[in-house]
Amino acid sequence: MKFIWLRRDCVGVKVPETVNTYCPKCNAHTEHKVSIYRKGKERALAIGARRHERELHGYGGQKYPIQRNKAKTTEKKTLVLTCSKCGRKLMREGVRLRKLEIVR
Ligand SMILES: [Zn+2]
Repeated sequence: MKFIWLRRDCVGVKVPETVNTYCPKCNAHTEHKVSIYRKGKERALAIGARRHERELHGYGGQKYPIQRNKAKTTEKKTLVLTCSKCGRKLMREGVRLRKLEIVR
């Protein structure tokens, strides 16, 4: 089966579950497990979150405009490759895609 490896301007892309690629820690080509990057949970006690909360207090309200009408219909999808030998994670640059499928 032939896969398209994250080409730009694609509507949908299928990526394999595992790929052979270079691992900088092992300094060799090893097998990597492919997963889609997802944003982690935001920490409520991070300095930016505390500062933002403090700025919202009192007179003045919201400090920056909230974007309501989005122009883009796609999201940037980033791939996370995990080395099967040492466990190091690599990121593949995100491109705008409507759909990203991991095919097994
Ligand atoms: Zn490795």
